[in-house]
Order: sequence, then C-alpha cells, then structure tokens
Amino acid sequence: MDGKRFTHDLLGWYDRHSRDLPWRENPEPYAVWISEIMAQQTQMDRVVAYHDRWMRALPTLADLAAAPEEAVLKLWEGLGYYSRARNLRKAAEAIVRDHGGVFPDDPAAIRALPGVGPYTAGAIASIAFNRAEPAVDANVLRVFARLLDLAEPVRSPALRKAVEAEVRGLIPGDRPGDFNQALMELGALVCSRGPDCGNCPVRAHCLALAHSTVADRPMPAPSAEVTPINMATGVLVHGGRVLIQKRRPGDVWPGLWEFPGGVIERGETPEQALAREYVEEVELSVRPVEPITVVRYSYTRYRVTMYCFLCESGGPTPPAPVFREATEGRFVAWTELDGFAFPSGHRRLIEWMRGDARYAHLF
Ligand code: SF4
Repeated sequence: MDGKRFTHDLLGWYDRHSRDLPWRENPEPYAVWISEIMAQQTQMDRVVAYHDRWMRALPTLADLAAAPEEAVLKLWEGLGYYSRARNLRKAAEAIVRDHGGVFPDDPAAIRALPGVGPYTAGAIASIAFNRAEPAVDANVLRVFARLLDLAEPVRSPALRKAVEAEVRGLIPGDRPGDFNQALMELGALVCSRGPDCGNCPVRAHCLALAHSTVADRPMPAPSAEVTPINMATGVLVHGGRVLIQKRRPGDVWPGLWEFPGGVIERGETPEQALAREYVEEVELSVRPVEPITVVRYSYTRYRVTMYCFLCESGGPTPPAPVFREATEGRFVAWTELDGFAFPSGHRRLIEWMRGDARYAHLF
C-alpha cells in the first residue's frame, strides 16, 4: 500500500465528511474518554444524547470522582455493561489520587486506568494528546481486513496484530487523532457491514475490492454458543407502592435495582417459580394476580425470556419483606422509579407498564 497516498485520500475525505460531534470541537481528554467508552456500547447518534446528559451532570473529572456510584449508574442506564460505568468512576478516582486530578498524557499511564484497554488508550492518546498511537476497534479491524484482504477470522489475535502493525506504520505524526477518527468514521459510514465501495475514498488501495473478496472479508468468527434462560419476575404492589430491591456486590448487575424474581427451574411454571423466589429472596408469600408481559433481552451469552406478573401479598398486611438476596429494598411510589437504575430487562418492564392502559392509574 502507498501509505502517503492512502493517508492523503483518507484525511481529505474525513475533512469533507466527518460528523459534527460535540467532543470533536474541543477534544478535551475527559470528554473524549467518556465518548469512547460510551461508543463501545451503542451507535454514535445515541452516544451524543448520553454524552450531553453526562457532561451536564458531571462536567469535570473531579465531579465524576466525587459522584455517588448510584448517580453514575443512573446516567449510564440503558447502555448495559454497567462495569464500564463503575470503571469510569474508579479511573476518575485514580486520576485524582495518582495524577493530581490531571488526565495523564502518557499512553502507558492511560492504559493502566481501570476499564481502559488498548483501543481506548490509543484513541485518547491520539485524539486528546496528539500521540501517534493506533486505536484499533471492530470498525478498523473490518476496514483493514478488506483493505489488506486478510483471511483471518474477525476476532482472532492474528488479525488484530496484523492490523495494529499496519496502522502504526501508516499513522501520520501531524494528525494522529484525525487519522484514527477517519478510520473509525470510514468503518461506520462507508466500509460498514454492507460496504459502499462505489463511494469509498480509499477504493484505489483496497485489495479485497481488487480480488473480488469484499463479501468474504472479514472472515466470520466461529459462532459463540447462546444459552437461553427463562425467568419470572413479580411486581408486588401494596398501597399504591411497589417493592424493589438492590442487587448485591458480586451478583450480575451489582448495585442496580430490580423487582424480585429469578430463574424458572425445570418442571416449574413461571407462577410457581415466582412464588418460590419471593419466599427465598424476601420471605414473602405472594400470588401472581395477572401476567403483565414477556420481556426478551440478551446479555453476554445469555438470551433471557422474562415472564412478568403483577402480584399481591398473601401474607400479613402490610407485607414486611426480609431482604435475603439484596443489600437493601423498599416500597416506593411508581413516580419514584425513574430515580433508580435498573437492568435493561426491568427498565423495559417499567416502560411497558407505563404504556399499558391497565396500569395508567399507577403512574
Ligand atoms: S473499497 Fe469497499 S471494501 Fe474496500 S475499503 Fe472501501 S468500502 Fe471497504
């Protein structure tokens, strides 16, 4: 590949077509960092809205370091992988503690922060500090698998190694951040899953196009096994208030709130599982009154089907839960639910109920 011509063609296109993103105008390291971590979770148009809200609530690194974990999780709600939000806060604390509150500009020091991998470190170092560091994400891997016509599976170490070496050799010393962002932008807008080769600014350099192998690049990874799980969740209402509990450290989604419930065991109906889970988790005897909906969602390798019921307590009035599987819990007003961070499945259940006429009187 003619590196000089490639860089010229790529940056010329980027200068004409780059999207107007809030952190690009003033690539301040804190804002770049937050945008990069968010962009690992969702599409760029959604990142802008989340980023705006985040920067209004926590405008500086010191604000993030001092924020309660619950407030940080709430700002992250809907993006999934909550460990990323926790790591943002831990990293902010580490910068305040170890770097006097000033974001480090050394790639190795950035890489040492909690939750920062090689891609994010390269992106921050190049965009915010003008360091000639590669930032190779899934977009860039896909682009170079095609540009170099590499017959390596998409998530293989061999592909990553080859692409990182190529980017390191190409990255220009005067515009490293723009170069990395141009590659990401090319992967998002042109060389996407369905590539638009007719309008590609670097088509003259593309070996897959020359060899008619674009449709085969990158080579798919061997498919990961998916595990289905059936769950039952109960919304227990008493006196117009609803029972929620907070998940423990070490659980999946630690620190988030939920309605009690759990996995449906072999031979159980969802209703039976719910009654059992309520006894085990909060020592309450409940009766499912009516099905609300079925929520389907995925996390890591699990595909969850969650059967959701409205419940009433068959025990003493008012019910007095004992929280055996949670750090705390309480009855709250429906209007207060937006003040708590829930995993996406439970948040979708709340949104479903909000839009269901049967429950209009509750909200
Ligand atoms: S020519 Fe097509 S496959 Fe090659 S880099 Fe451009 S968009 Fe991607």
